[in-house]
Amino acid sequence: MSDSSAAVLADVNEHDVEDQRSTKQALLRGWRCRCPKCGEGKVLHSYLKVNDSCSSCGQDLTHARADDGPAYLTILLVGHVMAPLMHVVYFAWRPEPLVTFTVFSLGCLLSSLYLLPKMKGIVIAYQWARRMHGFGKEA
Ligand SMILES: [Zn+2]
Repeated sequence: MSDSSAAVLADVNEHDVEDQRSTKQALLRGWRCRCPKCGEGKVLHSYLKVNDSCSSCGQDLTHARADDGPAYLTILLVGHVMAPLMHVVYFAWRPEPLVTFTVFSLGCLLSSLYLLPKMKGIVIAYQWARRMHGFGKEA
């Protein structure tokens, strides 16, 4: 192998390493509602609206197509936590129906409001990491 072809391969490998997108790292940044590329800039404003670009690295975020994914994931998680919890609480303590309704309604509402932006950040981060919907074009 000549020196020039080795230099080209090293350049290609360096570009590949630079261009790799870790899904796990992107999902963790998405959970924090941060830019999946740099982890610094915020992805969302006004609770659930996606910023056009990252304020830190300039990553174009207009390709994000979260649609109903975050709501679906939120319902999935909250339902799978609250339904068994309601069963356990009912059979362990038999609280008054009004107390059960109040506690679990507030629990569902507050946990959904907490999880929804995080799920949206995760969905956008996953799309970025997997180069979906035009997120891979700038590479
Ligand atoms: Zn960024």
